[in-house]
Amino acid sequence: MPSARDITDLTRALLRRADVYGILPTPIEQLYEFSQIECFTFGAEEQRRWERLRESAQNVVRSMFQKLRGFGDLREKVVFVASDAPIARDRFVKGHELGHQLIPWHRVRREYMDDNHTLSPATRALFEREANFFAAEVLFQAELFSNRARDFTPNLDAVFTLAETHQSSRQATLWRFAEVHDYPIAAGIYYPNRGTGSSRDLSRWTLWPRQIASPAFERRFPEFFLPHTLDVQHPFVQATSRRSILQGTALELQSVPPNTKCSWSSWWSGHALLVLLSLRKRSRFGITF
Ligand SMILES: [Zn+2]
Repeated sequence: MPSARDITDLTRALLRRADVYGILPTPIEQLYEFSQIECFTFGAEEQRRWERLRESAQNVVRSMFQKLRGFGDLREKVVFVASDAPIARDRFVKGHELGHQLIPWHRVRREYMDDNHTLSPATRALFEREANFFAAEVLFQAELFSNRARDFTPNLDAVFTLAETHQSSRQATLWRFAEVHDYPIAAGIYYPNRGTGSSRDLSRWTLWPRQIASPAFERRFPEFFLPHTLDVQHPFVQATSRRSILQGTALELQSVPPNTKCSWSSWWSGHALLVLLSLRKRSRFGITF
């Protein structure tokens, strides 16, 4: 994403100026207060109705609301988020909405858009990714998370501890952990295939959307990819029959290079299977590096 660096700079400046840089979990409300943006929450049904409104109708409601509240200053904005989401989800959504308000080029969306003047689907998708990235930068505090992650041996225990510290979802934390760790690690999130009707087929699993690998991993194992699909026999899948993290030290995978030390952990959340793999090359003298 070409704008990633700009968004990182923007969030870092925001965290510093609002005096929350280094404070965990990131006090999102304080960022709203500092930015003079009001955040209102409402329930799931209202949220669904709100999402069904066209963008232009949402803008009308928003501006009526601002007038009612006596917001004369255009810089004072309002965002609406659902109140009944789990904490981690709620925090991510608030970060995402704040991103739309504070990323300068997203302004066009609220202020200049009408029915004849809508954003292209590609721009809209990019704005969504940018707002997600903004939320992650705010919650994980960019390089502060990287430094903290590197203090931990890479396994899912470490990821879950960090998720707790940042009040972020385990999935989002796993993703970020794999991206920034200095060990050669890779992570993946697998979902069960659709069964008949609305059921799930817990014997077949698919990696979605893709493998996440650390820079050291990509450098040392450019040929290695986590399997795209898993069957019920696969060691990772055995985590689905327990509540705790499953740890393994060897893996029967053809794509693992010879002389490689492999450790992995997997965990079943009830709807997704999280996998973290750490590969290290073993030298002729038995030393791994
Ligand atoms: Zn959005």
